[in-house]
Amino acid sequence: MWYTYKVTGNKKAAQGYYNMPYPRGVNADACDGCGQCLPKCPMQVNIPGILAEMRRELKA
Ligand code: SF4
Repeated sequence: MWYTYKVTGNKKAAQGYYNMPYPRGVNADACDGCGQCLPKCPMQVNIPGILAEMRRELKA
């Protein structure tokens, strides 16, 4: 959803997905920025950074 939004620019659709009534704790809101995923990602993706950006841009 995030990369589709970045490619298409369809923020409304991305916000719709992001703000769906998922059970608490299963979307980017659940990330506390602990950083434990960072050394485990072989692609060195900044996962907490991306999730924080998602929250800033898409959270209703
Ligand atoms: S996504 Fe990474 S930084 Fe966020 S809670 Fe999970 S392990 Fe921690």
